[in-house]
Amino acid sequence: MRRICPQDRLCEGGIIEQSGRTVTIGSVERYITDTAWQEGWVQPIKPRANLGQSVGIIGAGPAGLTAAEYLRIKGYDVTIYDRHDRAGGLLIYGIPGFKLEKEVVERRTQRLADGGIEFKLGVDVGQDIKLSELRQKHDSILIATGVYRARELPVDGADAPGVARALDYLIASNRKGLGLDAPGFESGELNAEGKNVVVIGGGDTAMDCVRTAVRQGAKSVTCLYRRDRANMPGSQREVANAEEEGVKFDWLAAPKSVVVKKSGAAKAVRATRMRLGVADASGRQAPEEIPGSEYEIKGDLVIKALGFDPEDLPELFGEPNLAVNRWGGVKADPITMATSIDGIFAAGDIVRGASLVVWAIKEGQDAAKSMDEFLATRRKRAAIAAE
Ligand SMILES: Cc1cc2nc3c(=O)[nH]c(=O)nc-3n(C[C@H](O)[C@H](O)[C@H](O)COP(=O)(O)OP(=O)(O)OC[C@H]3O[C@@H](n4cnc5c(N)ncnc54)[C@H](O)[C@@H]3O)c2cc1C
Repeated sequence: MRRICPQDRLCEGGIIEQSGRTVTIGSVERYITDTAWQEGWVQPIKPRANLGQSVGIIGAGPAGLTAAEYLRIKGYDVTIYDRHDRAGGLLIYGIPGFKLEKEVVERRTQRLADGGIEFKLGVDVGQDIKLSELRQKHDSILIATGVYRARELPVDGADAPGVARALDYLIASNRKGLGLDAPGFESGELNAEGKNVVVIGGGDTAMDCVRTAVRQGAKSVTCLYRRDRANMPGSQREVANAEEEGVKFDWLAAPKSVVVKKSGAAKAVRATRMRLGVADASGRQAPEEIPGSEYEIKGDLVIKALGFDPEDLPELFGEPNLAVNRWGGVKADPITMATSIDGIFAAGDIVRGASLVVWAIKEGQDAAKSMDEFLATRRKRAAIAAE
């Protein structure tokens, strides 16, 4: 997992903090898993029973795939639905191939398919099939849909040609890398080659965009972030990598508008310098504008990487009884991952907000355990009723 897990912030960071010693857990994990695959130690999935009950999983990201594996081993019939044409969620179409090789994801999804898990790809639940239909087909459902509504840039010119959403940009690049059709890339719209690129945001998505732009042959790549380096949400390891590759970071800077050419296409970002003011309720210092400090950065490809919000799932799924939390994600019990609807569970980013793969995997495991308990109770009840 050295590939994408930010061990420097998690386990390795914790050990340094507590003992002052460094342990390269990420490299050890990567060595063990790579060796296991190379040596053929990774065994095929063999269900322990045939329980005659079926589970429907919406979303083939790490949360959905993990739950699928555990439930299949227990003996359930498992079907995964995903709106994309490939399984893997953000592991396949979000995170770039230079951080996570796509073969690593595909050998895992292949193992699941070989183990009898059915993948229904290109199926958008809510559009192509109703949640109510899935509830008729399956004995229990897991919602593992991630968060995909990109936050927009509330400035003039933000809709101009040449301004792109981070995930559209990364999906096009990943599709190209996988040898699939990528019209946005082919047309040049989502290709950074020869362009001055400005990425707005300071999270891991922004870091992936700047490093992708460098690899595509951008003329210049600048990352604009309204707080300073110490207060950015992205991994410091990724910032160091990006700097080494030639990315310029404009810390304490925020966009005021996108400046356009006569044709209407983006040509620059007008930005303002910021400073960190008083701390807000969360203890984080709020950035505030420094009056009269505006300046311009050339940018004919401007990428918005400002984070993601959940889609309105009760509306999309036609299930008003599906309770949501205060930021619009699915409300689930933190231990059992059960939602407000009996038999429906949820896991991953759609529950906790844009987060990390390790959390999606952990919640996928927790949800699978609870779904198994729920379905076992149903089997017992059915057996008693049949006596
Ligand atoms: C650019 C980027 C870089 C990242 N880098 C890292 C990193 O380096 N390390 C790390 O740990 N984390 C990283 N993350 C975060 C990590 O990818 C997510 O936390 C994780 O993938 C969440 O897993 P998930 O299964 O909840 O959702 P996702 O991976 O988002 O998968 C959800 C799946 O559900 C499908 N879906 C959604 N709605 C529907 C529907 N209505 N019908 C059918 N299918 C649907 C989607 O197509 C998708 O395949 C990154 C995220 C991004 C965006």
